[in-house]
Amino acid sequence: MTARLTRVRRSGQVLALGGLVAAAGCAPSMTLQQEAELGQQYAAEINRELPIVQDAQVSSYVNELGTSIVNRVDQRGLRYTFYVVNSEAVNAFAVPGGYIYVNRGLIERATNASEFAGVLAHEIAHVVERHSAEQLQRAQNANLMASVVYGVLLGREPSGVEQVGLQVGGSAYFASYSRSAEREADMEAVDYLVRSGYHPGGLTTFFRKLLDERERRPAAVEQWFSTHPLTEDRITEVEQRIAQVPSSSLRNLRRDTDAYQQFRRRVSQLSPPPR
Ligand code: ZN
Repeated sequence: MTARLTRVRRSGQVLALGGLVAAAGCAPSMTLQQEAELGQQYAAEINRELPIVQDAQVSSYVNELGTSIVNRVDQRGLRYTFYVVNSEAVNAFAVPGGYIYVNRGLIERATNASEFAGVLAHEIAHVVERHSAEQLQRAQNANLMASVVYGVLLGREPSGVEQVGLQVGGSAYFASYSRSAEREADMEAVDYLVRSGYHPGGLTTFFRKLLDERERRPAAVEQWFSTHPLTEDRITEVEQRIAQVPSSSLRNLRRDTDAYQQFRRRVSQLSPPPR
């Protein structure tokens, strides 16, 4: 597949990938290889736009943890790549083809390994279940892409000073799933965590933390809530799923690891996010 990236300039801003989406829209159904190629091109654009953390220790930890989950749940031969984004906004998102991004602000709030593994497992499930590949196929042209991105992120067309907002616009598109896709990713994540040796309770403790923070400091977690419809119901459903896991299986699952705490310390020492 030779989808070419096109750039649409508006108000001095760059919005990429119209051509990519248009190309995807023509295909009746995307093969895994097409999905991987599209994902790779999209990831290359995102990596140019977002402040990706280059620290070797940080990227090796997130890739080792992520890959250890992937190896137990995805046998299709996709090669996943995990990135940490130097942004205070709480967010995580998955691009088709196995490119997964987690913001620094999320890592600061995920205080133990099972919470962080829970977020990765949820994003991996979006890739395994091809939620974002399906979204790409539904998008028929660049204008739709642009309106979805601006709509999700800003609720309107961007002004000249919204560079930072636009940088995360593409990610907002991929992180914005239907309620049923979110539920499916949660249910899968519980299963993935058990198979990977992490306690799935990390998902619910993390979600609750975000709900609590929304009460106190809504701006800090706004991006997460705009792209991940998170409600008390959703947490209850995850709890119900966990209740179906035999307690003999839950007993030996990890809540935390030294490696995660080292990773988190390292992230906290990174230079401040760019303004
Ligand atoms: Zn999700």
